[in-house]
Amino acid sequence: MGDTVFSKIIRKEISAEIVYEDDEVLAFKDIAPQAPIHVLIIPKKEIPTVNDINEEDAPLIGKLFLVAKKLAKEFNIAESGYRLVMNCNKDAGQAVYHLHLHLLGGRKFSWPPG
Ligand code: AMP
Repeated sequence: MGDTVFSKIIRKEISAEIVYEDDEVLAFKDIAPQAPIHVLIIPKKEIPTVNDINEEDAPLIGKLFLVAKKLAKEFNIAESGYRLVMNCNKDAGQAVYHLHLHLLGGRKFSWPPG
């Protein structure tokens, strides 16, 4: 088992506000929200970055998006819109090396991103 903060959340060693869980995927509220809705959707499998995704992970990665879609509906941002972000490595500002999909909504976002 790895030792990122997200591994500890998966193992329930530290608490998080969990909004979705199944055998493969966990979703919880970001501790430092950047929007009214800011949820992190993660695979329970330890995959550090997008660079580490394998062919066999394709269904799992697809599932992250299906969970994002479901949560967007539940949080009433499906129609207004939302942003899904996956940062990879230092130039993108990745801080936690356990793959995670940010679901952000409840406000307008600018483009291009900073
Ligand atoms: P990233 O910069 O893409 O690696 O994003 C990491 C995210 O994890 C940041 O938005 C943090 O606020 C969030 N984060 C870090 N620790 C926790 C935690 N214990 N519970 C919830 N979110 C966290």
